[in-house]
Amino acid sequence: MIPVAEPYFVGNEKKYVNEAIDSGWVSSIGEFIGRFEKGFADYCGVKHASSCCNGTAALHLALKAYNIKEGDEVIVPDFTFVATAAAVKYCNAKPIPVDVEEKTWNLNPDKIEEKITSNTKAIIPVHIYGCPAKMDEINEIAEKHSLKVIEDAAESHGAEYKKKKTGSLGDCGTFSFYGNKNITTGEGGIITSNDSEFIERINFLKDNAMNKEKRYWHNEIGYNYRMTNIQAAFGLAQLEGLDKINQIKRNNAKLYSEKLSEIGNFQLPFEPDNCKNIFWLYTLLLEKKTKVKRDKLIKKLKQRGIETRNTFYPISQMQPYKSEESFPVSFGISERGISLPSSAKISEKEIDYVCESIKEILE
Ligand SMILES: *Cc1c(COP(=O)(O)O)cnc(C)c1O
Repeated sequence: MIPVAEPYFVGNEKKYVNEAIDSGWVSSIGEFIGRFEKGFADYCGVKHASSCCNGTAALHLALKAYNIKEGDEVIVPDFTFVATAAAVKYCNAKPIPVDVEEKTWNLNPDKIEEKITSNTKAIIPVHIYGCPAKMDEINEIAEKHSLKVIEDAAESHGAEYKKKKTGSLGDCGTFSFYGNKNITTGEGGIITSNDSEFIERINFLKDNAMNKEKRYWHNEIGYNYRMTNIQAAFGLAQLEGLDKINQIKRNNAKLYSEKLSEIGNFQLPFEPDNCKNIFWLYTLLLEKKTKVKRDKLIKKLKQRGIETRNTFYPISQMQPYKSEESFPVSFGISERGISLPSSAKISEKEIDYVCESIKEILE
């Protein structure tokens, strides 16, 4: 089976993990935590980063640190992985879905303001599949209405918007290091920001809100959302190869797009001007007129040993987030989208095979 995603080991993973084990510091204290956080912050071009146990926890911590609470509303794209909206619910606040753009599949800035009320506190743009969202427009709206901007950069490590890395463009950024992301720590997450007080607050909340002066004294409810030293050691090695991984994935995306544009029937992934897409999952949409439907294509490809994935379901269609409203662009992507094998380990021959198979099935 050619997988949709698989981890790509860069080189120093075993070495650093062994060093962490040899140091005796296997839990959430140890030198690799700081080295990984500093390395990731430098990579993104921000002053600070705070590691945590996964990307969902990173979102939750960021929202908590901005004091998002019951009665508050947070703007999210209708087309995203569920964690973006679930984290808002963890704070007893309300995720407000907004439709996405046709080309980038990211939060549509033209649709945000009509959803802003006196309860709106934040916007969470997602850089979906590695494609940067329209951050200038989103930041401008946020500034006008005094809203926080939390970039959900879980799918966009190293992606760039006007030469700046995602995770450095809003008030803060959150990342995931799940096994299928461009770099991984097994499970893991991180929060990036230039605001030192905010990062201190994150550090406090992820450590059970332990009082700094008085150990085991807690004036607030916190969480245990820490990353381990072993994960950070692994992550540091992965970070050394992030640019290489992204380069491979960009090359693979180019190969896919060249071959698939010859076949037709698709809307291909997009790279806006002034942006660098890192193509986390190479995802395309079947055009409405295509006779073979998405789910059939997935099934037929599987029979040929090719794993693919359907796109996310609209947030507004799922029970906990249910809305009566219709979001045509998001619904269309959800219905007709398919992610192809996107691992950095995939060969040119395998890309050929995937494209040939698609061609035959459509014929
Ligand atoms: C993967 C992902 C997350 C959550 O990350 P986990 O580490 O799996 O908790 C959040 N948002 C988006 C857009 C994601 O793709």
